[in-house]
Amino acid sequence: MSASSAESSLQPVVRLLGYARYVFGGLLVVTIALLVWQHFGMEKVVELAGNHYPVKLEDDRSEGGASQGRLERKGQDLVIHCHIVKKASWPYCKLDFDFLKGAKGVDMSRFENIVIEAHYEGPGVPKFGLAVSEVEDGFTRLDQWQTYKIEQVESLGLPSSGRVLVPLDWFSVAQWWKDMAKPPVEHAAVNLDNIVYANLAFNFGGVEGEHVFTIHSLRLHGKLINRADLLMGLVALWVLCTVGWLAILTLSLRTQLQESKAAIALLREVNKALELEARDLAGQAHIDPLTGVLNRQGLRAALMSTSSLLSEPMAVIFIDIDHFKSINDTHGHGVGDDVLRKFANVIASGIRSSDRLVRWGGEEFLIVCPMTNVYQGRILADNLRHALHQHAWPADLRVTASFGVAQHHQQDEVGVVIKHADEALYRAKQTGRDRVCAHNPEDVIAAAAA
Ligand code: GH3
Ligand code: MG
Ligand code: MG
Repeated sequence: MSASSAESSLQPVVRLLGYARYVFGGLLVVTIALLVWQHFGMEKVVELAGNHYPVKLEDDRSEGGASQGRLERKGQDLVIHCHIVKKASWPYCKLDFDFLKGAKGVDMSRFENIVIEAHYEGPGVPKFGLAVSEVEDGFTRLDQWQTYKIEQVESLGLPSSGRVLVPLDWFSVAQWWKDMAKPPVEHAAVNLDNIVYANLAFNFGGVEGEHVFTIHSLRLHGKLINRADLLMGLVALWVLCTVGWLAILTLSLRTQLQESKAAIALLREVNKALELEARDLAGQAHIDPLTGVLNRQGLRAALMSTSSLLSEPMAVIFIDIDHFKSINDTHGHGVGDDVLRKFANVIASGIRSSDRLVRWGGEEFLIVCPMTNVYQGRILADNLRHALHQHAWPADLRVTASFGVAQHHQQDEVGVVIKHADEALYRAKQTGRDRVCAHNPEDVIAAAAA
């Protein structure tokens, strides 16, 4: 496979790697953005005051005191008028919230803080406590108030900003409730997931007189997604993207591999075909196109590639069709060609497969006969001559040929034996044609005796 085709087959994989840059770059940006947003924003706020839940004000008269409380609503504001009288041991006014809706209260566990925006006017100090009642699955019985878990934050003050921030982890389970309810250990810890009641208890430092505490808002603050959940989600997203991307990459590589294998197989086929074609062309260069037998070039190649051809003994027979010119002249070149083709066929079918028939040129042919002495060559030539007599030629022609036979002597070059055969052929022509002459008759006698 060429470098450029290997490159182009890898293009989809390279493209995928390019996309990964965008996918994972985008993922990184989203991750950072979400973490920053979670840290600085992503606020979830729920208003508990206002008109959302029923609220009522209590004072210490139910416990034998003389303080008097009155609740006034001004728009969204809850205005607590509390006249503290030092009669009870701990005079107070108390604002009660009822969060119970159906069988469920408010889930504060997913929030971080309670924020109170308020304003105080009066002679004392705006001291207050915040207590909530939790319905604890498996422990609280709705008809037994002692089983409502009481969790509280005490001694809250109102800073000059008018904003009180109460982290929810400031809550603790009230000791008096633990002493009374004696909850099993699994129900003794703070749990804010189902708060059904809450109260703000005001004592104003026990200072007698008229105190006015206005609550503008009382809100739960938290995050839409808490940090742990967000981190978990992000890790899942990264794992999912990475696994997905690796799966796509693997699939793509597998497809590429299959395509490359197919391309290699195809190239192999093409190579094979080209090799065959080249071999064919090389073969054609050695074949005479008219008769299909070897040409001179072919004989040279055969002599070089087949060592058994130059055996000892070896005979060469030179053949020349008699008066061929007159066939052409009388019947035309087409018939002449036909005669040449048929002539080659007749000769080829009369020789052994180890012999080589060569068209030497025009109407001249040569037979190289390995393991054949001149005597045997002569017999063969005579047989061929007879075969020509037997053959039915086009246009009822009588086609004969003259044969010159010579034997190769080891010390001689191949050209010498061909020349000798040619000389013998010349003699055959001179002495009347349609006959076989041996180059050296003594050779024939010696060979016949051997
Ligand atoms: P001889 O008996 O003395 O051999 O006489 P000849 O007519 O056979 O010999 P000559 O050399 O005078 O003529 C050979 C002819 O063969 C002349 C040439 O036109 C013809 N010839 C050579 N090659 C081809 C060929 O490929 N096709 C055809 N039709 N004729 C060819
Ligand atoms: Mg000739
Ligand atoms: Mg001739």
